[in-house]
Amino acid sequence: MADSRPYWQNYINGAFVDGGAGRLAVNDPATGDTIAEQALADVYDIDRAVGAARQCHESGALSDLRPVERGRMVRAMGDHLLERIDEIAPVLTKESGKPLWEARLEIEGAARYFEYYGNQAETVEGRSIPLGAGYFDFTVHEPLGVSAQIIPWNYPLEMTARSLSAALATGNACIVKPPELDPLTNGFMAQAAEAAGFPAGAVNIVCGHGKEAGAALAAHPDINQVVFTGSVPTGISIARSAAENIVPCVLELGGKSAAIVHDDADIDAFMDDVRWGIYFNAGQVCSAMSRVIAHRSIARRLTEAIVVLADSISVGDGMNRADFGPNMGAMISERQRERAVGMCADAERQGATLATGGHALNRPGYFMQPTVITDVSPEMDIARNEVFGPVLSILEFSDDDEAIAIANNTPYGLVGGVFTADLDRATRAAAGLRAGQVFVNEWYAGGVETPFGGYGKSGYGREKGRESLWNYVQTKNIAIRL
Ligand code: NAD
Repeated sequence: MADSRPYWQNYINGAFVDGGAGRLAVNDPATGDTIAEQALADVYDIDRAVGAARQCHESGALSDLRPVERGRMVRAMGDHLLERIDEIAPVLTKESGKPLWEARLEIEGAARYFEYYGNQAETVEGRSIPLGAGYFDFTVHEPLGVSAQIIPWNYPLEMTARSLSAALATGNACIVKPPELDPLTNGFMAQAAEAAGFPAGAVNIVCGHGKEAGAALAAHPDINQVVFTGSVPTGISIARSAAENIVPCVLELGGKSAAIVHDDADIDAFMDDVRWGIYFNAGQVCSAMSRVIAHRSIARRLTEAIVVLADSISVGDGMNRADFGPNMGAMISERQRERAVGMCADAERQGATLATGGHALNRPGYFMQPTVITDVSPEMDIARNEVFGPVLSILEFSDDDEAIAIANNTPYGLVGGVFTADLDRATRAAAGLRAGQVFVNEWYAGGVETPFGGYGKSGYGREKGRESLWNYVQTKNIAIRL
């Protein structure tokens, strides 16, 4: 049954609490109506949450547990989310606009992070380095301590799960700052932590405005790291704060990722990649396939097929979309939609063609047409800058080097894709692409087990996979003279 509570609290030191900054109205992007209120933290709440996490860490209540026990608790959080998927999914749909089936996928994705990092907890082992007779030397990994995690609105639950699961598995006490636009489902995360038996202060979930609570958290002198997923300007400000405190940060920022489609690619199969790549979550995905770079000989056929696909996607209220299908929900906010529509209009002014879409839907809520833009040249803004909406730009290339040069012609470098039957060609392209992850013949191949992160303005540090574990630990070497 859906959870229809009208007011959601923050979670500090094992208790659900109000916020010092009052309440925030949370809107349904499909209607614009307020659906609930969220407690809003002020800087004092942030300070209390950091204090609780620090106390938890110093007491050893989390860090002294056997990793196998911590791992069990981390997995239990994921199990809790899955058990309540029927309750959580409608709330996620209501606050984010994504269809119910996508909300369910997000909850399953969140649970998978807890399963994966729960299983990794006991694998963080040290090693011994031989120093010759008379010495015994070993290296261990200790938790960093207090981990601050700032979350974006496009996957509020899954992005929280991504950092929280790995941080807890390695023994860190955490403060999560959910996004203001869709903070509610993080309330379930707090309940999951409680149900899993985490000690007070191990998990604190505190929603507040980015420029106040978020900035205060990132700059707090008593945190040991910041993990941030979001936009480049915020990433810059967070990196500055981390630098002031000399603490490490992980930045997962935006993207402008391209799929290079060669003349020998399986175009029918590729349509599925386009559907997932750019119209999933209404294109509000950091690793979205926002550009297709097509070989000139197939560009026309490919464009026609993509336009047919885009036109076949029905757009509507996510609450009516429980079954997987060619449909798309609302964008998160009017501001986000207007930005995407404005970028389409700018592209037209610069000489590109709207092959389909490009406009808002004439109805309440923040819906946008699935969009395909052609006649795009590599120097246009639409080819270089992130839209974060259901907007695909199609460019053309004649030879392999040109395709790679176009793909790399953006400040970002999150993911890239190559579609071809020729593995040799794919491997050369993969080597040339300036991106943290390259998909060959399937967009979003990979998963929670594979490292993910950016080149260039897409950020630094890696999440997912075993790489992520090293974000959350200190390395200590102990050299003993026997
Ligand atoms: P945003 O930067 O506006 O906000 C992200 C989070 O930061 C929110 O919780 C917000 O409250 C907080 N915040 C805002 N200003 C802050 C400040 N000065 N100090 C501290 N915290 C602050 O980004 P957004 O609009 O929510 O998310 C969209 C962006 O995130 C896109 O660029 C997208 O590509 C990127 N993103 C990247 C990934 C990835 O893994 N690389 C994943 C999802 C989203």
